[in-house]
Amino acid sequence: MHYCSYPDYLRNLLGERVQKLSVNAGFTCPNRDGTSGVGGCSFCNGLAFNPSYCNNKTSITQQIDDGIAFHKNRSHKNNSNTKYLAYFQTFSNTYQHIDNLKKIYSEALSHPNIIGIIIATRPDCIDNEKLDYLQQLSESYFVKIEYGIESTYNSTLQKINRGHDFETTATAFEKTAKRNIHSGGHLIFGLPGETPEMMTDEAKVISALPIESLKLHQLQIMRGTRLADEYKSNPDIVHLFSLDEYIDTITKFIEQLRPDIAIERIASEVPQRFLAVPSQWGFVKYDTVLQKFEKHLADTGSFQGKHFN
Ligand code: SF4
Repeated sequence: MHYCSYPDYLRNLLGERVQKLSVNAGFTCPNRDGTSGVGGCSFCNGLAFNPSYCNNKTSITQQIDDGIAFHKNRSHKNNSNTKYLAYFQTFSNTYQHIDNLKKIYSEALSHPNIIGIIIATRPDCIDNEKLDYLQQLSESYFVKIEYGIESTYNSTLQKINRGHDFETTATAFEKTAKRNIHSGGHLIFGLPGETPEMMTDEAKVISALPIESLKLHQLQIMRGTRLADEYKSNPDIVHLFSLDEYIDTITKFIEQLRPDIAIERIASEVPQRFLAVPSQWGFVKYDTVLQKFEKHLADTGSFQGKHFN
């Protein structure tokens, strides 16, 4: 393997193959209600991704049962020993009072098939009290926080109306690691004002964080977003990659990346009907992009950390 893969990372930590199950606990976003900002991030259309089995009108326990049934049907396996991680994915999953968070996370962890939780959130949406509680949980369960980094450049974060700076992100990772809580992050390539060279350079900044895993996404301009309006007025504000150029850019990025950071995703897969600007890639399945990336690494003798300093 030419890069640190996420399934291997999880297997090393947990000693077995586990399945992630998305859970929607009805969280909202502080960058839309005025707490961190108004209007949201310019690339976000506010329609959070939600798998079909995730319905926040039902209990967390029911969503987990439905998710397990969904995955068993899909894989045609009926293995009652499979273990699962509840993935709080939708919006900012620490954006509630600590007492509510305790109820929500505890319900998921009390399910007999759940061995841990993964919590997606914003770096400005966590505090010492919440982290102390998650540290306690992590003594008995697998606990991981997934922070939206999006960019390491403050100029970009301002342009996309992110509502926090990169220093806030770095502090959140430091505080999380000090408590031995697992952590990962998201990064978007192609945001306004960034060149491919700036994006590959981000690997050095990311490598200096106490981060364990990373999801990489190419920018896609969704319908109903502020970015779609900005693009209409000036298509040059963003860098929309061709597939080959994107593979080349993420290859250069991971060459500079710390070798132990697990790569969980290398691209996003948004259906064309949600896009204000059609993807230059056409309809390409995620597995095809991944295979192309792995072949490119093998063909060019490239690997994660090749130029890590
Ligand atoms: S990307 Fe996340 S933080 Fe930004 S507006 Fe959307 S839900 Fe809120």
